Amino acid sequence: MINVCDIQVMKPLLAEHGFHFSKAKGQNFLIASWVPEQIALDSGVDENTGVLEIGPGIGPLTQQLCLRAGKVCAVELDNRLKPILAQTVGEFENLEILWDDVLKLDIPALVKEKFDGLRPAACANLPYYITSPILSALLEAECFDQVTVMVQKEVAQRIAAAPGTADYSAFTVFCQYYAEPELLFDVPAHCFLPQPKVTSAVITLRVRKERPWNVEDQNIFFRTVRASFAMRRKKLSNGLASGFPQLGKEGAAEVIAACGFDENVRGETLGIPEFAKLSNEIAKRLK
Ligand code: SAM
Repeated sequence: MINVCDIQVMKPLLAEHGFHFSKAKGQNFLIASWVPEQIALDSGVDENTGVLEIGPGIGPLTQQLCLRAGKVCAVELDNRLKPILAQTVGEFENLEILWDDVLKLDIPALVKEKFDGLRPAACANLPYYITSPILSALLEAECFDQVTVMVQKEVAQRIAAAPGTADYSAFTVFCQYYAEPELLFDVPAHCFLPQPKVTSAVITLRVRKERPWNVEDQNIFFRTVRASFAMRRKKLSNGLASGFPQLGKEGAAEVIAACGFDENVRGETLGIPEFAKLSNEIAKRLK
């Protein structure tokens, strides 16, 4: 197996194919072999797992996943990588590469078609310019057991944040609604070529089989969350009144009182059970 993380191997390989990194496609390739190995180990992938990898690049994580998984389906946008991947991962019979934009795929249909009888998981060193849309698509697909990704460290901290902290955001609630996150390890910028400006981190999200709260209307739940974070420094009633104009200020205050929350409560201190309560109360009034 070619060690694609070895810079003495990678540079001539890229040069042989006249490949230049595309900043626009978020191309920062791993040059520290412990990183893809540790990601694959922590992703919980085994021979009973079907893994969707996003952005194989020249294949360091793909190799590690192929060594462990029942099947790997890797989606890569950049066609220029075709001859390189043929050299670096061509030997794996459990690998299928799709040359496509992951954001244009019907992920549940793909998982059903490719991973029949396997435990579906997703694993990637994500292109950072589309971290949130990809993670949202993976979680909303509701078909993976586990999603393990490398992202910017600050995004990882945001995903795993607790209520009331500076990192807690609408995206935190979105991710934690679907899954339980665990921060795994940091990856310094010098582990990539070219070096990104930020530190990265690997996070795993174990998708919830059951959600321990009752949400009457998922659409209103996420609207409530967005409205609650939209005016961070203001009272929750202001945010809700602006996110749900039908309620008005008075209606928003009534909703908060009906939930038994303090009238001065701030959205960023509420956990998912409280947002569920709030959104159910709003749903009742919008009927
Ligand atoms: N996995 C490789 C590694 O760890 O060295 C490459 C990771 S690099 C951060 C991100 C990869 O995602 C690049 O190969 C890039 O071409 C690919 N990519 C960017 N946008 C994509 C998209 N919309 N769909 C699929 N792949 C994409």
